[in-house]
Amino acid sequence: YEAKRSDAMIAAVERSLTKTGKVRSGDDLVVGVDLGTAYIVLVVLDRKRKPVATEMQFAQVLKDGVVVDYIGALRIVRELKQKLEDRLGVELTRAAIAMPSGTPESECKAHRHIVESTGMDVINMLDEPTAANRVLNIQNGAVVDIGGGTTGLSIFKDGEVVYTMDEATGGTHLTLVLAGNYHKSFEDAEAFKKNSDNHREVVGVVRPVIEKMGTIVHRHIQGYDVNDIFLVGGTTCLPEFEEIVEKQTGVRTRKPKNPFLVTPLGIAISA
Ligand code: ATP
Repeated sequence: YEAKRSDAMIAAVERSLTKTGKVRSGDDLVVGVDLGTAYIVLVVLDRKRKPVATEMQFAQVLKDGVVVDYIGALRIVRELKQKLEDRLGVELTRAAIAMPSGTPESECKAHRHIVESTGMDVINMLDEPTAANRVLNIQNGAVVDIGGGTTGLSIFKDGEVVYTMDEATGGTHLTLVLAGNYHKSFEDAEAFKKNSDNHREVVGVVRPVIEKMGTIVHRHIQGYDVNDIFLVGGTTCLPEFEEIVEKQTGVRTRKPKNPFLVTPLGIAISA
């Protein structure tokens, strides 16, 4: 795992949220489309795999990895693509997508249709842990992806996925706990949670839930020779996440500087 290299790549994606790179033609570009239960993220890379523009939007059009609002998903992907095209001044025609491991064929087709309906060819489809590992580049260890609605765990041996699981717990669960605790609406609790000024306080309240997530990870790595855990997904942006998981599992746990953008970047790299 080359922390410096992956952190530098992720930092470049972060910059491309606001700064637009210079491009000559759309033919040189590929788009990674990450349709999540909480966020839809589109990352555009140039021929040298340098991020040139990124757009994202909060959207609840998927539940447990399944598209529940097809029209809404299509509208948002179309809008984000349009924003990127306006910024870059070229048309985007090629995309890659990723799904949680073990997603049924019909669901993969729905994802593909959404992206194709916006006028892009889907040139690669892969599973999310493999996409994340295009950034992390680990040979052995577990990747734990805690997003909005799901926690995914994949164990890698010699660079290949040998075990995966997906559970329906994630950041949405933390937001609900905060909403109850502070008597806030879901939206207000979500905004409160994501504001880094509140992060210490948030962890104070949701620590038992994070510990529970750690015990789930611990249970699933039993029987595998896991010496390293890598955290990705927006929920692991919270401070102390790696310490809590490490304590519950007894396994060294690390996360990149911005775990939220790992999978979207990995999808784009794989295009
Ligand atoms: P899933 O993986 O379940 O399909 P997703 O791909 O939309 O969902 P991510 O985009 O990785 O998931 O993460 C979204 C979750 O991360 C949301 O619950 C969001 O509140 C949380 N999140 C994002 N940024 C932060 C932050 N800075 N601090 C705390 N939580 C965050």
